[in-house]
Amino acid sequence: MKHELPKLDYEYDALEPYIDAKTMEIHYTKHHQAYIDKLNAALEKYPELQDKPVEKLLKELTKLPEDIRTAVRNHGGGHYNHSIFWKLLKKDVKISEKVNVAIDESFGSFENFKKAFTDAALNRFGSGWAWLVLNNGKLEVMSTANQDCPISEGKIPILGIDVWEHAYYLKYQNRRAEYVENFFKIINWDQVEENMTKR
Ligand code: MN
Repeated sequence: MKHELPKLDYEYDALEPYIDAKTMEIHYTKHHQAYIDKLNAALEKYPELQDKPVEKLLKELTKLPEDIRTAVRNHGGGHYNHSIFWKLLKKDVKISEKVNVAIDESFGSFENFKKAFTDAALNRFGSGWAWLVLNNGKLEVMSTANQDCPISEGKIPILGIDVWEHAYYLKYQNRRAEYVENFFKIINWDQVEENMTKR
């Protein structure tokens, strides 16, 4: 079975003005689709791997055949990261008491968390992601390069921001800081809570 683009739960303009409709459309239909196509192409010669969930492939990168390991890491990672990302975006969702308490306990305050997460997003040189993850049950902020995914390091992604230029360049050009600031206005905290508790 081939990997497929997951359905988007909202319209391309749903996150305006923070993420513009054109960026959403290209990001979802072109960039995400390209990762899926290249993941499927990489798996073509290994039918026994085609039915494995992408999460499982990424958890066991070192066990994969060497000739497709990099392709799965990059394109499987791209597919997985974007699938998480779309669900984390929604306007006008208030942070729940449960998430707020968990963030306070781990970072001292929401502002401390926001600063750590923003720093991770701004200091990621080139392309990559900033994350809030669970590491052995503890909340931490980290970043990854390219399409590397926390689950390949045994960490559970709770919240992530795509800081590849394709995620923000049409609207923000070089102003990554403004994009990150606005990202905080469209975090789907209900999904964050689900990511924290469901695993
Ligand atoms: Mn992206």
